[in-house]
Amino acid sequence: MDFKSTRDENNIVSPSMAILQGLAEDGGLFVPVSFPRLGKDLETLGKMSYQELAFEIMSAYLHDFSDEDLWACINGAYDEKFDDPGMAPVVSVGNVDHMELFHGSTIAFKDMALSILPYLMKTSAVMNKSDKDIVILTATSGDTGKAAMAGFADVPGTSIIVFYPKNGVSSIQERQMVTQKGDNTHVVAIEGNFDSAQTKVKELFNDNELRNEMERNGFQFSSANSMNIGRLLPQVVYYAWAYLREVETGRIEAGKSLNFCVPTGNFGDILAGYYAKMMGVPIGKLICASNDNKVLYDFFETGTYDRNREFVLTISPSMDILISSNFERMLYHATGNNTGELLRLMGSLESTGIYTVGPEIMANFGDFAAEYANEAETMDQIRKVFEETGYVMDPHTAVASRSYEKYVEKTGDNTPCVIVSTASPYKFPEAVLNALGSLPEDITDDSLIDTLNAVSKVAIPKAIHELKDAPVRHGTVVPVDGMKDIVRKIILK
Ligand SMILES: *Cc1c(COP(=O)(O)O)cnc(C)c1O
Repeated sequence: MDFKSTRDENNIVSPSMAILQGLAEDGGLFVPVSFPRLGKDLETLGKMSYQELAFEIMSAYLHDFSDEDLWACINGAYDEKFDDPGMAPVVSVGNVDHMELFHGSTIAFKDMALSILPYLMKTSAVMNKSDKDIVILTATSGDTGKAAMAGFADVPGTSIIVFYPKNGVSSIQERQMVTQKGDNTHVVAIEGNFDSAQTKVKELFNDNELRNEMERNGFQFSSANSMNIGRLLPQVVYYAWAYLREVETGRIEAGKSLNFCVPTGNFGDILAGYYAKMMGVPIGKLICASNDNKVLYDFFETGTYDRNREFVLTISPSMDILISSNFERMLYHATGNNTGELLRLMGSLESTGIYTVGPEIMANFGDFAAEYANEAETMDQIRKVFEETGYVMDPHTAVASRSYEKYVEKTGDNTPCVIVSTASPYKFPEAVLNALGSLPEDITDDSLIDTLNAVSKVAIPKAIHELKDAPVRHGTVVPVDGMKDIVRKIILK
């Protein structure tokens, strides 16, 4: 299965090349030329370990990886870094199930893909006889940056620069990043929001002058953002995994539909669910849950994508995004892989911040539904679910949980549903305790963590223990316009 750019149908590359490049040089995103189908029946797949299922699904896309290479990637990634042997446990919370994707080393769902991406990238570099060092440029809304650095730290032949919005992440998220170890890791705070960081990173990728300068000096850019197809493919696995667990526990009959409700920002997580469906996993609706930055909800309601609105800082910062980069992939598929139409829409988004699609294209979004939860609803949901079940959710998961309730009220759809739970509450202890009405008097990271431990009775994860005495190693802050210079300074010394 080769990959082609959403913006140039003649730009077709091998899987390893797509992973190595990250973003297509024409500014588009790589998508599979067509979707492979699951090669085995559900009963056979249901007996597989997470690792075996990952091999089954990823090998369907990565035809230029040898079995041995792909197994090495999978075994390097999915090991005891995860504190649950099932990698992505599906747990029951009241009358819905949650798939917990936060059992990796940085306690957010980004670990599911970023623990394997460095292996995929190194393998791709060897396969393509690339003699250049890989420089990962990544914009983060809080979770990607840490997870990517954890994956790439001290990987020979790579370095990574992470840009995060100075006032746009939680205190724990910031501490996780600025204490990152590894001589090849670099963290830069920017005076701006996530969208401006992401847009600038895309610009740097497409900056020919900078790219040439890097190449002359033996470096090549790549991306650890979900723009990289190497991020998306590992995420397809857990949708199939959750489906199979629901069959195993008898919650659904094999072959019957299962919905997923996904807290969404850049549309990477939910898009992986769509890819799983296209491969034959019996998924019903993919419910796209937004916070107050509800561009996607509005799009699904009206057919108009409009980013000309106030950017709201919320307690679910990883979803504070108005330019949802992976939505380009879905839009491309929904146009029937029509590059011309896609270019017109993206051109409109870039020049005016808005585009509208017609009813024929909207009809191809039928696999999706959309809802949103505002700040008050999100906080209320954290409290309500805790009172009813004793389960403590992080704010992102709470957005999905409330959105799901609103979806059911509106549609009456009683298809079983799995809520995709994307972060540990320990990543956002202040917001969570505030919602529960249990804030300690003296608010410090330590007091918040101890209080959350007492309230939730959930063990403090290793990722949080490690932060306690970790020295701060990074402190650079630049304006968005300073990002290019700082990249040159860090890499070219
Ligand atoms: C990144 C992230 C999301 C949003 O995922 P997308 O793939 O960007 O849609 C939701 N919740 C958490 C905790 C995240 O880190």
